[in-house]
Amino acid sequence: MEASTQAAPQPVLDSVEPIVKYENVHKSFGETKVLKGINLDIKPAEKVALIGPSGSGKTTIIRMLMTLEEPTEGEIIVDCQNLWHMKKDGKFVRASEKHLRNVRGEIGMVFQHFNLFPHMTILENCMTAPIHVKKTKRAQAEQDAVEMLEKVGLGDKLDNFPSQLSGGQKQRVAMARALVMKPKIMLFDEVTSALDPELVGEVLAVIRDIARDGEMAMVLVTHEMEFAREIADRIVFLDKGVIAEEGTPCEVLEHSKNERLASFFKQVP
Ligand code: ADP
Repeated sequence: MEASTQAAPQPVLDSVEPIVKYENVHKSFGETKVLKGINLDIKPAEKVALIGPSGSGKTTIIRMLMTLEEPTEGEIIVDCQNLWHMKKDGKFVRASEKHLRNVRGEIGMVFQHFNLFPHMTILENCMTAPIHVKKTKRAQAEQDAVEMLEKVGLGDKLDNFPSQLSGGQKQRVAMARALVMKPKIMLFDEVTSALDPELVGEVLAVIRDIARDGEMAMVLVTHEMEFAREIADRIVFLDKGVIAEEGTPCEVLEHSKNERLASFFKQVP
């Protein structure tokens, strides 16, 4: 039989509108230019690993999505909602507080240093945002929090305070706390880098589970290359404030000829 000359069908993802769009995003802190024209689309359910040397701007990129930083130039669109845009006269306009709150409600973020509320039990840590932000009834919030804490393997620690937990357990609480809000996008900022090596595995296992559930878009800033390979649909390499390389894990980790990437790989353990 003659080989077909037809192009292979594109993955479904290609035809789907991005849930996140960075368009020519620049960011300076004072005189320091940290991001220099970032263009990045993230599709719903896509898992993107952001890698790159320390100081290359990875955290700034995801903090902008959480509206914790504003760009100096460019646009960021989340779920068709514009966070900032440039008017025709060149003036930069920030979306209203209400609008930004809506966007934040669609995003969950897990930080390197857990950021749990130390005076609350881990159950309360996971109930407070649904009750106060989403106005979920207390009984429902408690049920959701218990389910999520069981899912991350902490069903027997509900009444413990963060100080009574290991770093890995704290990080699992932080994930449960973000997940109870049912975000469309989850951001993970080097969530294993403050952990003792023996605790890294349990945290990665939870992220793996979340990724397998499939529905959320995920952006992971990570230096765990093997983990990025396993979990990511796409790896984006940031260097000195620009996207210097991107592609599938295979393209980036095995077949890239990019010299900056090669020198970065020499530095990571
Ligand atoms: P990465 O996550 O890749 O390590 P960051 O996004 O944290 O990089 O930081 C990029 C650069 O921006 C660094 O040089 C950092 O010092 C600088 N930076 C980040 N946040 C601030 C801030 N709030 N004020 C001043 N400089 C900052």
